[in-house]
Amino acid sequence: MMTIGIICAMDEEIELLTQDMQSEQVQTIAGRNFYIGTLYGKQTVLVKSHIGKVAAALTASLLIDHFCVGSIIFSGTAGGIDPTLHVGDAVIGDLTCQHDFKVPGDPLFQIPVLKKSYLKSDCTLTQLAFEAVNDYILHEMLLDIPEKHLKAFHIQTPKAVIGTIASGDEFICDKEKNQWLYEHVQNIKCVEMEGAAVAQVCYEFQIPFAIIRIISDGANDDTHIDFDLFIEEAARYFTKGAIKTLLNKLS
Ligand code: SAH
Repeated sequence: MMTIGIICAMDEEIELLTQDMQSEQVQTIAGRNFYIGTLYGKQTVLVKSHIGKVAAALTASLLIDHFCVGSIIFSGTAGGIDPTLHVGDAVIGDLTCQHDFKVPGDPLFQIPVLKKSYLKSDCTLTQLAFEAVNDYILHEMLLDIPEKHLKAFHIQTPKAVIGTIASGDEFICDKEKNQWLYEHVQNIKCVEMEGAAVAQVCYEFQIPFAIIRIISDGANDDTHIDFDLFIEEAARYFTKGAIKTLLNKLS
């Protein structure tokens, strides 16, 4: 069994996972702590990437080239773009694109070195992630998140979907940008700041990957959710639950 690389963008999201890691060693490179050990029975390297495409790409490159992981799973939060998604729903990316990649004369979002606008995640890992996330949100998530926060976030019957995740170095919180993304990105579900960068690194190294996101906000100006509270009271449980369920499903 090859080592699995796990990346989250924020402290709160990796905290519960580091607590569950066994025979853990820590190695620090470029200011990042890489936790090496056994997580839910699988050989794993867990790391916080920090926010943004460059930070995520650097982290993924180190996982692959220095720690020799055989696959990468990213879990974090995202802003919903598909209007049928609500806070607390989950998205597993089958395609990713860099929505801030625009070169005059080239198709929208095309990455010059690859001549591709969209990169595909690993089919098997993505399907397993979808099943794992479904299991977690249907059976455990509502028990993990304290009742008063479920109410505050208006989470009732969360669902998981598969679709396109768009990434860029911008926190999206306005209606016009939201609408622009909805109209220009094929089958877009949500927007965040790391997934497509991890996808490009994995694509170039030919490593399978999956991107898992929980919707934390509507990526528009009527976002009333307290983002920090959502990370603290919902996203940290989601990340642990989704990763635990997924690792248990891997052979
Ligand atoms: N106040 C926070 C900001 C986090 S940036 C802080 O200072 O720590 C947002 C993070 O959540 C990124 O890692 C991104 O991937 C994800 N995200 C959630 N909602 C988003 C949105 N609407 N637009 C872009 N990224 C979003």
